[in-house]
Amino acid sequence: METKTIKCNKCNNDAIIFQKYSGMHLCRKHFIEDVERKIKLTIRKHYSIQKNDVIAIGLSGGKDSSTTLYILHQIFGKRPDIELVGISIDEGIEGYRPSTIGSAKELTEKLGIRHIVRSFKEEYDTTMDEIAPQQREKGACSYCGVLRKSLLNKIALEIGATKLAIGHNLDDEAQTILLNHLKGDVARMVRLAPPKELEGLVLRMKPLRHIPEKEVALYAYLHDLPLGFGGCPYAHEAMRREIRVMLNEFEVNHPGTKYALLSGFDKISGILGREFPQEGLSRCSLCGQACTEDICQACKLLKRDQ
Ligand code: SF4
Repeated sequence: METKTIKCNKCNNDAIIFQKYSGMHLCRKHFIEDVERKIKLTIRKHYSIQKNDVIAIGLSGGKDSSTTLYILHQIFGKRPDIELVGISIDEGIEGYRPSTIGSAKELTEKLGIRHIVRSFKEEYDTTMDEIAPQQREKGACSYCGVLRKSLLNKIALEIGATKLAIGHNLDDEAQTILLNHLKGDVARMVRLAPPKELEGLVLRMKPLRHIPEKEVALYAYLHDLPLGFGGCPYAHEAMRREIRVMLNEFEVNHPGTKYALLSGFDKISGILGREFPQEGLSRCSLCGQACTEDICQACKLLKRDQ
């Protein structure tokens, strides 16, 4: 019996994906074009790329960061005035991180991109394997996230990076927006808005913020990029997990929910920024990193102030 294939809405090729939110069936070529077009638009709208920019990419070696690196290489790889550098942080998680760092190394070598690997052990003289068992209540991720963010910024500053790209996709952004609403955390909401120049903090870029997670995974698969299966053993952010499940259900029943959350947030972020201006940055008195208080979050978590 002949099976009927569904055709792409833009050509006569077989579709490989149905975007429920746009109502479009797309073939491989038009799906890739759609993802790349959205990313270029995001970069043009939010992050003005200048001559002589050095773009650091936080590269965990999973699908999101690998796709970010790959696409930035596609867009800027031929420009001699722009340098891309991958930065991988080894948090010290046995059985998980070494393999993703291996994937990051392979990818940067293949694309001819400089790659820097720095560990929590070298920087903080500890590892997540040591920290996690003591942080069962708060969850390891709150520690890990703060320390990694701080170290990424430090390395980016050291190498003279002018932008720091991270692989947050649409799902991450929508979850974070809702999470901040539910926690009433306006300060974090303001910080989530597309960035401004702040001294001591390398400007953060999120080129994938308009791409749904499933589409990042498909794009990565089609380009033979690392998919990073096998999760971190300490992944445990209970509220975010609940929000992820809820948002995915909403997306099935009301396609476009994640985009609506993000675009609604983008519309009010300017007003939020004016009503709740970010505090000015100073330097941490212990490590010298940019922060809003006398001592930065990373030093507090590491109890360097005691
Ligand atoms: Fe760190 Fe949590 Fe990510 Fe694991 S899941 S690498 S502990 S932030």
